[in-house]
Amino acid sequence: MDDVGVDGWRAFGGADGDAVEPPAEFRGRAAASDPAVYERFDREGPEAWGAAADLLTWDREYETVLDDSEPPFYEWFPDGRLNAAANCVDRHLDDRRNQLAIRWFGKRGERRSYTYLDLHREVNAVAAGLRDLGVEEDDVVTLYLPMIPELPIAMLACARIGAPHNVVFAGLSAEALATRIDAADSEYLITCDGYYRREDAFNQKSKADNARIRAEGELSAAVVVDRLGDELAVSLGDDEHEYGALVDAHDGETVEPVARDATDLLFVMYTSGTTGRPKGVEHATGGYLAHVAWTTRNVLDVRPDDTYWCAADIGWITGHSYGVYGPLATGTTTVLYEGSPDYPDRDRVWDLIERNAVTVFYTSPTAIRSFMKWGAEYPESHDLSSIRLLGTVGESITPKAWRWYREHVGGGDAPVVDTWWQTETGAIALATLPGITPMKPGKVGPPLPGIDARVVDEDGEPVDPGESGYLTLASPWPGMLRGLREGDERYLREYWLNGEDGWRYRTGDGAAVDEDGYVAILGRVDDVINVRAQRFNTGELEAAIVDAEGVTEAAVVGDDDGQIVAYVTTKGDVEPDEGLRDAIADRLASAVGDVARPDRIVFTPELPKTRSGKIMRRLLEDIARGEEFGDVSALRNPEVVGEIESTVRRGD
Ligand code: ATP
Ligand code: MG
Repeated sequence: MDDVGVDGWRAFGGADGDAVEPPAEFRGRAAASDPAVYERFDREGPEAWGAAADLLTWDREYETVLDDSEPPFYEWFPDGRLNAAANCVDRHLDDRRNQLAIRWFGKRGERRSYTYLDLHREVNAVAAGLRDLGVEEDDVVTLYLPMIPELPIAMLACARIGAPHNVVFAGLSAEALATRIDAADSEYLITCDGYYRREDAFNQKSKADNARIRAEGELSAAVVVDRLGDELAVSLGDDEHEYGALVDAHDGETVEPVARDATDLLFVMYTSGTTGRPKGVEHATGGYLAHVAWTTRNVLDVRPDDTYWCAADIGWITGHSYGVYGPLATGTTTVLYEGSPDYPDRDRVWDLIERNAVTVFYTSPTAIRSFMKWGAEYPESHDLSSIRLLGTVGESITPKAWRWYREHVGGGDAPVVDTWWQTETGAIALATLPGITPMKPGKVGPPLPGIDARVVDEDGEPVDPGESGYLTLASPWPGMLRGLREGDERYLREYWLNGEDGWRYRTGDGAAVDEDGYVAILGRVDDVINVRAQRFNTGELEAAIVDAEGVTEAAVVGDDDGQIVAYVTTKGDVEPDEGLRDAIADRLASAVGDVARPDRIVFTPELPKTRSGKIMRRLLEDIARGEEFGDVSALRNPEVVGEIESTVRRGD
């Protein structure tokens, strides 16, 4: 990759003088407050990750931290044995059995709370029920549920009996479910009758039925949660069992947690499908849980006495790692919210933070951009003073959005940790340690201790500060995927390079590092565009565009004629006009250079997003090029595609 042109990544993070120190009060109480942690990891190498494993309770202590004898098939804590559910539930019973583990808020205003003792009881009942249905260790159980407590409970019940789970986001289609059931060789399904979408009851069971017909394999049994009661009557077949009845039948039973090898499969999780067909990522039990627990504590700074809320859906990796496993392994109270952020009103998120006195809040840039679009009056109408740390993940966050988040949600002084990671990394890999490392808005930060991130050129040579390149990880890390459902060959081809100095994991992201080792994520390697004999990272151009007053989101692509096409959304009260077009072009010219002036600016009410909320650029590129669209099954708002296409055709 060439240099990205004038000023490169500076459009992201501004001058280095903009570094924001961790607030003194926060620093004083932070879990990670000793800068020596970086040196310790450097000095000890993989052995230092023992500190993460030591946050867990092991049935058999590991002796080996890392077996790297067959790279890139790395094994973490290979001779250790543990159970993930016991780590998330049982071990908290002595100290905090009556503490809330989950506070759930349903779409219709319903509330349910589970103490750790409640959680223990229901997880055991479900585990006993699953066994009764024939589920054995290593049988994969597919879960197709919305954000209701039964989802994390079922995950933990599976983990308890050593049955890997395969959670499929509830909004995905019957076809997507069928593919995932087959890909995971799964014979068991847990789903529900339906759930609410806004005001309406929506039939999930019929999608599940449809998937059963489409799937190649036969299911042995299914469990159906009655979410809607009388509002939706569904009939159950002979091999289908009602969840509540199953729990009642096994209430009070206990199931001994199965001691799993640390390398045994804990779950399968598909990637978001932003750049292509989703990949079925496999995570092992020990390394994954250790890395997740360590980062929950040291990056998100979560402690048992927090009330923590990760707003991501459990149907994606963020919800797995930081909505379920991280917080519960830590023994904290976690908020689970079924509804949408703007229902019944646009202050719903702030209302929940206020009423639960949430202390740590973790969400995505796409959500933050919506909050900005709706306006600061919504957070300002609530008391958010309980917040002591904010986190973000999923896409790059611009300095503007970062500051807005800190100002209007974080009371102006909460640390904001921008966390970079992937379904494949399992847990956070790049981020500041909020009690130690200064933050630079727009840059994710340095790699975490123990993460060997390097930004390299085509030949694998590190690029100079300020130049862009490929983000790679040069040594293994505990949360890493143990493989892909698609097989070892795909795993090797997709991610690994065997260069002169060893195996390198390719993240697929473009990045730049500054003199302090801070990384700015510039977009997907696939999203680099070639115009006027220059290469641009789309993310960098987008960051400049959203800097223009009134702009909320932007996606930049290149068309067939080598032109820059920018798709832009504006704040609710801003009418796009020529003045705004000029302002956007000027921002690009001053932040990146005259060559980056867009040839076309297309204003649209929304950008196409994946179900996990990421902008899908490849689709916008297809539109700009007048081509057939690729796979749109991962889209959350397919209806906007037609709209954008006709705007582009009309030439507005
Ligand atoms: P697919 O791999 O199927 O195309 P995906 O990469 O979007 O989908 P995920 O694993 O959910 O699937 O997302 C990981 C990607 O999200 C990262 O590779 C990166 O591009 C982006 N990302 C995550 N966190 C950040 C962050 N803090 N800053 C910038 N980008 C981020
Ligand atoms: Mg990816």
